[in-house]
Amino acid sequence: MTENKAENEFEKLPPRISRLFELANNLWWSWNEEGRQVFRALDYSLWRNTGHNPVMQLRHTSQEKLEAAARDPVFLELYDMVMAKFDESQTKGGEWCGEGGPSKPAGTVAYFSAEYAIHNSLPIYAGGLGVLAGDIIKECSDRSIPLVAVGFMYPQGYFRQRISSEGDQQEQYTQLNFDDAPITECAWPQGCGPLIPIQLADRQIYVKIWQVHVGRVNLYLMDTNVEENQPQDRALSARLYTADQEERLRQLIVLGVGGVRALRELHIEPVLWHANEDHTAFMMLERLRLERAKGISLDEAIQNVRKQTVFTTHTPVAAGHHVFSFQLMDRYARNLWEPLGVDRDSFLALGRFPGFAPERFNLTAFAFRLSGKANAVSKLHGKVTRKMWQVLWPDLPEDQVPILSITNGVHLPSWQSPDVSELCEKYLGTDLEQKEDMAAYWSRIDDVPDGTLWQVRQSLKTRLINAIQFRAQQRWTLDAVTTQQVIAMGSLLDPYALTIAFSRRFAEYKRPYLILSDIERLKRIITNPERPVQIIFAGKSHPADYLSKQLLKRVYLAALDKGFQGRIAFVEDYDLNVARELVRGVDVWMNHPRRLQEASGTSGMKASMNGVLNFSVRDGWWDEGFNGKNGWAIDDFHGGSPEEEDKSDAQSIYNLLENQIVPLYYQRDRHGVPHGWVKMVKEAIKTVTPAFSACRMMKEYAQNMYSMASQPKKEENNPIEGYEIGNKG
Ligand SMILES: *Cc1c(COP(=O)(O)O)cnc(C)c1O
Repeated sequence: MTENKAENEFEKLPPRISRLFELANNLWWSWNEEGRQVFRALDYSLWRNTGHNPVMQLRHTSQEKLEAAARDPVFLELYDMVMAKFDESQTKGGEWCGEGGPSKPAGTVAYFSAEYAIHNSLPIYAGGLGVLAGDIIKECSDRSIPLVAVGFMYPQGYFRQRISSEGDQQEQYTQLNFDDAPITECAWPQGCGPLIPIQLADRQIYVKIWQVHVGRVNLYLMDTNVEENQPQDRALSARLYTADQEERLRQLIVLGVGGVRALRELHIEPVLWHANEDHTAFMMLERLRLERAKGISLDEAIQNVRKQTVFTTHTPVAAGHHVFSFQLMDRYARNLWEPLGVDRDSFLALGRFPGFAPERFNLTAFAFRLSGKANAVSKLHGKVTRKMWQVLWPDLPEDQVPILSITNGVHLPSWQSPDVSELCEKYLGTDLEQKEDMAAYWSRIDDVPDGTLWQVRQSLKTRLINAIQFRAQQRWTLDAVTTQQVIAMGSLLDPYALTIAFSRRFAEYKRPYLILSDIERLKRIITNPERPVQIIFAGKSHPADYLSKQLLKRVYLAALDKGFQGRIAFVEDYDLNVARELVRGVDVWMNHPRRLQEASGTSGMKASMNGVLNFSVRDGWWDEGFNGKNGWAIDDFHGGSPEEEDKSDAQSIYNLLENQIVPLYYQRDRHGVPHGWVKMVKEAIKTVTPAFSACRMMKEYAQNMYSMASQPKKEENNPIEGYEIGNKG
């Protein structure tokens, strides 16, 4: 099926524009505005109706249209320009941003992650973890950091979300049509390679490898849906994050063990292995086995693995890490650890964590023990993480536990609106990407006239509302939905009103209900005829999380409540596309996790880079990002029960809205420009963009983590010593 895809599409394309196929199959186009323009120009309605999916678009574009494009000088000029830029991006450039930068790894880094959010046409992500992984590989492509990525192909991905008229989340799993996805069946240079065998308990299963081109980076995805496998094994890779423990363990073994074997089959020999979150830890076990096969002692083998392994942890809550019962480990991991020549107890000791569920195998503890370096994803998260895992380093005081902090960043070309970037290039200077992390460059945002910046902000908001209304119209036209639902989807939103977004996973600790604590007070704020406010909610509940679904329902009922005059909306199916529109288009980005439960968060960074003001609890990245002038901190809580925390934070939210946010927004000059507000917008862009860009982040990974591959051998004699000492954040 898919081999034909290549041939058919290729033949259909007139020779003059035949490379459109190659362009469509490299996700480079997705973060390069010119690349997007080519497909938009080819057929705008198909571009829109395929959800911006050029692979699918090319399959459906008529022969006449293609022939016409191949004769159209305007299109050809764009095509030639973009193909030249694409070719250049594959071979040239790739410098660090800013002045100088650390040396890049001398060989290939193998990056393992259970999810990647690169583009909606490849739905192999659930949320923030995947977005980070996607942003990392895009940045590595832009900066020419030699990296290959390894992940899992989920043909059913995460679910698509619909909300019923009663506010119940409905999950739709649709089978991905591989012909419409930007993936290639044969990852091997000379055609298709072998299936990768893995022993899982009593039977062998086989894994197929897909390849995705992400600029210069190759992403390899494991897929178990092949004829050689039994039906239940074929379904193993179907969905992201099954709730079933046993299924999950089997998936993680396939990801880790299969990934290592796949790279060997591809003759890729990484100098360093980067494990993103504990999902990927079995990669270390397989490499331990390979080291032992060289005939060296277990201790030596562990040291060798550690010298080439770095690990990033993302979960600040003990219960959020993977733990597996010893019985399950016996069942599935026995044939992985038996070749190590160790007894069961010694093996299980590698996953021991006295701090939480000590009678289980803790994957994060295992990953720490097998990694030479480890990091958390914000300064505050570093502190929390060093405290949580200190028992693994009993001889070290907490502040010296060797877990670094590398605060997350976001891929600027993916998240900053081209309108904002172009404005900056005009007033701040060209070569924005080279200056991405330079505070001096961004501080010149003060040179942009307030009215000009304000106009860009307003037009982004209008575009967001248009997009929301287009979706509502499609749902109204195509599906059986009620008028109330269409209103709840945001069809009455008003581009004039101060617009707040609360958009993220509906996890309990994120407290989506907080602003609804006092409905009457909120109604007064929202429906003030002179200073209207509107709130856009979006986000998915985990399919197995009943409590979260209740919270979602509560929010949805507010969107249906006529007393809010259609000024509360719930946008269905929060994904990369919806996120991109929202982080650009609203005025205020609200976030209020229960404290110390957000490792970093990245959506507020995306918002700030677009001049959307962050309004958040000082948790995760905002604890280091907030400077008193670039947004607001919900900061009145000084200890107490979760109920007291909710109460205090809700008060703080209302007070800030009533006394600061709403008045500032509506304080206008006679041309309608809110100068005080725009001043904060400028402060947000200028402080957040350089400090939280992915380029800054990758410099830190190169400097503090990837440099390990080229460092001289250290004396290392126990699995705990030999770590770099963590910064004290
Ligand atoms: C950025 C992003 C996230 C992560 O956002 P948080 O700040 O962690 O809430 C999650 N989902 C999508 C689709 C995103 O774009």
